[in-house]
Amino acid sequence: MNDNDYREVTDEVCAAETPDTDGGQPAGDDGKMHMTEVTADSDKPTEHETEYEDICYICHRPEHIAGRMIKIPNDICICQDCMQRTFDSMNQSGFSMDDMMNLNLGKMPNISMINLSDLQNLQGTLPKNQKLKKKKPKEKTEPVIDITKIPPPHRIKASLDEYVVGQEQAKKVMSVAVYNHYKRIAADEKDGIEIEKSNMLMIGPTGCGKTYLVKTLARLLDVPLAITDATSLTEAGYIGDDIESVVSKLLAAADNDVERAEHGIIFIDEIDKIAKKRNTNQRDVSGESVQQGMLKLLEGAEVEVPVGASSKNAMVPMTMVNTKNILFICGGAFPDLEEIIKERLNKTASIGFGAKLKDEYDNNEDLLSEVTVEDVRKFGMIPEFLGRLPVMFTLNALTEDALVRILREPKNAILKQYEKLLAMDEVKLQFDEDALRAIAQKAKGKKVGARALRAVIEEFMLDIMYEIPKDDNIGIVTITKDYVEKKGSPRIEMRGCARITDNMAPQIAGGTL
Ligand code: ADP
Repeated sequence: MNDNDYREVTDEVCAAETPDTDGGQPAGDDGKMHMTEVTADSDKPTEHETEYEDICYICHRPEHIAGRMIKIPNDICICQDCMQRTFDSMNQSGFSMDDMMNLNLGKMPNISMINLSDLQNLQGTLPKNQKLKKKKPKEKTEPVIDITKIPPPHRIKASLDEYVVGQEQAKKVMSVAVYNHYKRIAADEKDGIEIEKSNMLMIGPTGCGKTYLVKTLARLLDVPLAITDATSLTEAGYIGDDIESVVSKLLAAADNDVERAEHGIIFIDEIDKIAKKRNTNQRDVSGESVQQGMLKLLEGAEVEVPVGASSKNAMVPMTMVNTKNILFICGGAFPDLEEIIKERLNKTASIGFGAKLKDEYDNNEDLLSEVTVEDVRKFGMIPEFLGRLPVMFTLNALTEDALVRILREPKNAILKQYEKLLAMDEVKLQFDEDALRAIAQKAKGKKVGARALRAVIEEFMLDIMYEIPKDDNIGIVTITKDYVEKKGSPRIEMRGCARITDNMAPQIAGGTL
């Protein structure tokens, strides 16, 4: 360290810390000089400084909020506010740095000095998920999002088609809403026209692909995604996660990059579980209050969130995230909503000459698609909440045909996965057409949508996966309807000679080989 270095740093800190108020004592008398003396030789940028922000050791605020940090040895950073406060309190107590140096502290009871070497590399050891990525300096002329890079709705839908079977209307509505959302971010508001946010509410039975659609969408758009269960949320101060923890999750998904998180997607599942509780006299901390608490998030607000943790406490750094451009998608199965819809339809249909029979809608499988905002409000969602989710759409329960398609069509279809696994043993796996239908029928009976498919297949594939690698001669295995229904065995063809060997099949069927 040379003399010039020392003066430069000292002047800078003094200028920042003694504005023009109190006049203060000249540098050198008030202790500042002594602290900055330590500052000077640690002002070299270290490796972790390049990508991540410094965080104040005392107040845990990151650099972009607290301003420039003063560095002291052992990689510890202190913001100028905290440093100033420390000096102020020392001055108020009439205690100067010089006094401190002259004191023989060892002889004074109840006074101890912090030994800086005890704080060994505290900043350096902060886990990576508690550090904040630096914001890239924004160039004013460049739009936040390049609209030319966002695929138009038909391309978004075509990409979704590769993964998600059926749900045509939902895919269409979603593609347009997402496209508009990112156009809205790219647009400027100079002409006074502000495009409204297109947050979504998806209603559909369990296992019909709600989460899968959102996941696929986020992957295609390459934006961070946070998935939360509304059931875990409670009003701030009660047991459970704070509502703002959803933003914290998104920040983690964006690798603590605030800028990326601010363009991400938050999916809140099981939203029907936070419906207003009926007939209750107690405070509804996980129902209506959560809806109320989410209002400002949905609309767009600056929220202070902990970095690398889901709850706020003194040990984790905090940062501000703006939710204005975050796309919120809420999803839920809304059981009993069909009853509400039916009641409404029956009421309107039974008036006048065109009155219809009362059980007209009883067997209508597609009743959910008739839903209106009023029905959802009746279910228990508050109007202010629904008003902030302007795009509402439904997904259908999956039919047997759809389940068969899900088995083999998507890019990472379950059958393709098993085929790949057996191909690694150089065995070809085939499924008879009626075997697929039998699997779909079994899955439909379980009433948990496409989720049941895997369970049904696992049931009979276990024996195949266990027995086949035992015999190197097996070339082709064909799953038959009888085998799925546990009435028969799979067809096995040996390598080289394409003939069915019935002697082995029953053993596989029974898992007794
Ligand atoms: P939920 O509607 O309850 O959120 P999920 O989206 O989690 O259901 O679906 C569970 C699984 O079922 C998904 O991981 C996916 O593999 C499969 N799946 C559900 N619906 C479809 C669909 N329409 N197309 C393809 N796969 C689907």
